Amino acid sequence: MFGRSRVETKTPDQILRMRRAGLVVGQTLQLMAQTVRPGMTTRQLDELAEEHIRGCGATPSFLGYHGFTGTLCTSVNDEVVHGIPGSRVLQEGDLISIDCGAIVDGWHGDAALSLVVGGREAGRPEDLELIDATEDSMWAGIAALAVGESLYAVGAAVEDSLVEAGERSGREYGIVEDYVGHGIGTAMHMDPQVPNYRVREKGPTVRSGLTVAIEPMVTLGSADTRVLEDDWTVVTTDGSRAAHWENSVAVTDDGIWVLTALDGGRERLEAAGVPFAPLG
Ligand code: MG
Ligand code: MG
Repeated sequence: MFGRSRVETKTPDQILRMRRAGLVVGQTLQLMAQTVRPGMTTRQLDELAEEHIRGCGATPSFLGYHGFTGTLCTSVNDEVVHGIPGSRVLQEGDLISIDCGAIVDGWHGDAALSLVVGGREAGRPEDLELIDATEDSMWAGIAALAVGESLYAVGAAVEDSLVEAGERSGREYGIVEDYVGHGIGTAMHMDPQVPNYRVREKGPTVRSGLTVAIEPMVTLGSADTRVLEDDWTVVTTDGSRAAHWENSVAVTDDGIWVLTALDGGRERLEAAGVPFAPLG
């Protein structure tokens, strides 16, 4: 599954085009985070996201993807990923993961965030810890992308970050293995796969020009998942809540540029001592 695949790299010009798609995705997610509130349906969020993406001159990439009917994936509570926007009314205290993809001039961006509906003060302490631990693990994974190293160092860093966070909070987080990160560019899902956990294989070597989506999915219980009868929605088998964070990231000659982060990842990368290296 994780054999040595040929890994495509992008030119600086191509990465700059991907940044345009990434910014649309980042702005759409920011809008979702500012807008979501109790009483809204996930479809209302979805319609707003589509309007925003099209207003930017971009195209939603999830819509129609293998028949998917949303612009977003909206995954609530025990739903891990791929939730279909619809008539579900969001409740105060729900944990929602919002995943968004957009295309600009043929180039893709893909990112996700998790939050508590009604704000952090409405959240269960364990949900807030899960959300933060998952986000931190994503940044740990991004920070592990260094030229010349194994791509699978990302998964080891994600796992170590979650184990440490679990030790601090007295929990054992479940790291979902059924779904992984991926290369991204002229398609949303490309080689290589990027596991969110430590694997034996060495994996591809990170080179300048690599563009990947790093996206840990983490639960408060078991890592086991199943797909609902709608053929899309992935839920935890034990009913535990899950969080999902994702960014599309470029490795440049001098460091990292987080294409779907509005600040390019500057704040989190600099705090971690990782070279922040945007192009253009
Ligand atoms: Mg995604
Ligand atoms: Mg993705």
